Amino acid sequence: MKIKKGDTVLIISGKDRGKTGKVLKSFLQEEKILVEGINLKKKHTKPKREGEKGQIVEIILPFPVSKAKIICTRCQKPTRIGYILKEKKKFRVCKKCRKEI
Ligand SMILES: [Zn+2]
Repeated sequence: MKIKKGDTVLIISGKDRGKTGKVLKSFLQEEKILVEGINLKKKHTKPKREGEKGQIVEIILPFPVSKAKIICTRCQKPTRIGYILKEKKKFRVCKKCRKEI
């Protein structure tokens, strides 16, 4: 997967379209990512004791990586990622500015 933890992404579809956030976690097999402040869902918790009220908490849900585009740390633009091989190692490069990211 091209997007990794710590990357900043731009959301390109869904209700959070246009927002940016930092990737907190990536799920390789599901091809999903968890992004700070994106895809929040309100969840009602049950009261722990009688007489107490349930609470509403916001949880972050992972979403398909195809809904996000990485923002290049060099040119600050949403971009796609390419790979280059250098000294037998794979490096990610921005397809816009061609720099390593
Ligand atoms: Zn770039």
